Amino acid sequence: MRRLLLVALLLFGSLPLTAVAAKEAWVWTPQEQAYLDAKGPIRYCMDPDWSPLESLNASGQHVGISADVLGLLAERGGLDLRLVRTRSWTESMEKAQKRQCDLLTLATDTEERRQWFDFSSPYIEIPGVIVTRSDVNHITSLVQVLDEPLGIMRGFSSVQTLREEYPGIRLVEVDSYRQGLEMVQSGELFGMLGNMASLGEALQKNGIVDLKVAGWTGSSTRSSIATRNDEPELGRIMQRLVASITPDESQAIMNHWLTVRFEQGFDNQLFWRTTLPILIALLLMLGWAISLRRLNVKLSDANAKLAEANRRDPLTSLHNRMHLDEELPARLRLGARNGLPMVLAMIDIDHFKRINDTFGHPFGDQVLRQVAERLAATFRREGDLVVRYGGEEFVVLVTGGTHEEAIAQMEAFREQISQAKVGAPGKEVTLTVSIGVQVAGFAAHDAPAALVQDADAALYDAKNTGRNRLVRAARA
Ligand code: GH3
Ligand code: MG
Ligand code: MG
Repeated sequence: MRRLLLVALLLFGSLPLTAVAAKEAWVWTPQEQAYLDAKGPIRYCMDPDWSPLESLNASGQHVGISADVLGLLAERGGLDLRLVRTRSWTESMEKAQKRQCDLLTLATDTEERRQWFDFSSPYIEIPGVIVTRSDVNHITSLVQVLDEPLGIMRGFSSVQTLREEYPGIRLVEVDSYRQGLEMVQSGELFGMLGNMASLGEALQKNGIVDLKVAGWTGSSTRSSIATRNDEPELGRIMQRLVASITPDESQAIMNHWLTVRFEQGFDNQLFWRTTLPILIALLLMLGWAISLRRLNVKLSDANAKLAEANRRDPLTSLHNRMHLDEELPARLRLGARNGLPMVLAMIDIDHFKRINDTFGHPFGDQVLRQVAERLAATFRREGDLVVRYGGEEFVVLVTGGTHEEAIAQMEAFREQISQAKVGAPGKEVTLTVSIGVQVAGFAAHDAPAALVQDADAALYDAKNTGRNRLVRAARA
């Protein structure tokens, strides 16, 4: 029997992997780095008693799957993580809500918890099982046992999700897997619910042989890193790190904590006869769940790339109008809240049609790229936003400094471009731009569209009064 288990584990452990090398040095964006520098140590809370997912060992150290994952991420990102010890998961949750710790290592993403936290993508998924007395028939769905009292860990998000899904369910909250299992032994509970890894380990560690894993509940534990949502930068930082976990890395950690421990020390005929076949089935399912998760991570990565691609203009690689529409309201709010001056410019190339007509459309494209490059090089501070608004029109939003400084910089750009030669060697042309600007911060700019409209109206005036000039909006 034991050999069979090993075979199953080897099989599981050798599921096809797509190795992704992530060996290059990790680079934070300037914003992320600034956040981390200002932040100092990041304090985290975890469940002290949720082995093998996470627990405190005899010397009070954080061990388990989340410890290995966190260690990996901290090393990769150069994070200074400090454990805030607690006596229970409930206490960890309370501390995190009171911001006495900045993140929770393993938490299920729920609507309710989003009041306090941002969640990374789940980085662990373990099938949920039910443990009953050995004489109970195989259970294929919770619906079969809704009339029976079922144990569940106190404070876990599944308490609420199960109650919502099965309004009649008779859940009894317990403080440890061991307590729950003993209540099943004594007949107080019909079954104990929980994830396969924790329940399997609790059965084994406590030498419980008159209970068995009677079936899969159909739901699984999917856990993420939860970060305080009043510091969204931290959420983005952890999400980047979680997304960087390669299949090889997660496989190695999972294998270490989930499989190895079932072969050590414990040998009991009944245990192997009743629980082993189900465990093997579950381990195979777990393998499947992990590949599914990988697929999901890949998918969300691809979606993120796609979303970013959707916000870029393919010709110039500048952000596009869609990005501006999404970004402008938030930037204006931020600026207003922090008293930061903001100026928006609408910049349009003069008589661009002539360039196209004279030299051809591909040449026009080249000129547009060069103007875009110059814009990006000129307005490249952190608070600057440069957008290809459409055709030969660009929008620049400058944040910080003073209004006058920002407008002077725009005027300097107009001057500079009128002196420059663009196009191809031997086929150089000169061009000019007209610029309309409006400063943000008037009541009328509660609607971001009004700011753009004002700048556009000023641009119209610049065109009508001779082009190659900057005009400030009349309404101010
Ligand atoms: P004005 O000074 O009044 O702005 O004159 P204009 O010729 O620049 O303005 P108009 O709006 O009449 O023409 C804009 C031209 O820009 C027409 C269009 O063919 C060209 N254009 C728009 N997008 C692209 C592009 O992606 N590539 C190229 N080569 N041309 C483009
Ligand atoms: Mg034009
Ligand atoms: Mg135009």
